[in-house]
Amino acid sequence: MRLEDRPAIEVQLACSGCRGEVALALPGAGEAARCGRCGRETRARVTEAMRERRVVDECPVCGCEDLYVQKDFNRKIGLAIVVAGAALAPFTPYYSSLFAAAAIDFLLYLVLPSCTVCYSCKSVIRGNEKNPAHAAFDIHVHERYRRTGSEGGPSDAG
Ligand SMILES: [Zn+2]
Ligand SMILES: [Zn+2]
Repeated sequence: MRLEDRPAIEVQLACSGCRGEVALALPGAGEAARCGRCGRETRARVTEAMRERRVVDECPVCGCEDLYVQKDFNRKIGLAIVVAGAALAPFTPYYSSLFAAAAIDFLLYLVLPSCTVCYSCKSVIRGNEKNPAHAAFDIHVHERYRRTGSEGGPSDAG
């Protein structure tokens, strides 16, 4: 088993210093990302599951185990297609452009890959194998993290 042959897991995280966007490939050299803006280094932790099976079992940035899976889909584009379909509806027979727009959105949704997002620190993980334990976005879990105010980052317990 040679790890080098496998594609990396891509992590898009918020810099711990300036909250800017930092990209990181796992498992990689050093497993830390240096922010291009403020120079601050954010460390990531690669678990056994990530290393061996490319399955993300916890957030590599904050260690949070609550993650959700969503389509890597630009909602603005999806909305634009629906708006265009609605605008054309009066000029197409039986408002068929509405259905066409919905069909295009649906097809886009099917072909687009999904990504994994951390509820706590909002890091986006791509290129990983799907973890069956992760479900779609759950507003209740999201609320829980919002209420605990994890914006300041996790404490270094242990
Ligand atoms: Zn920064
Ligand atoms: Zn996280």
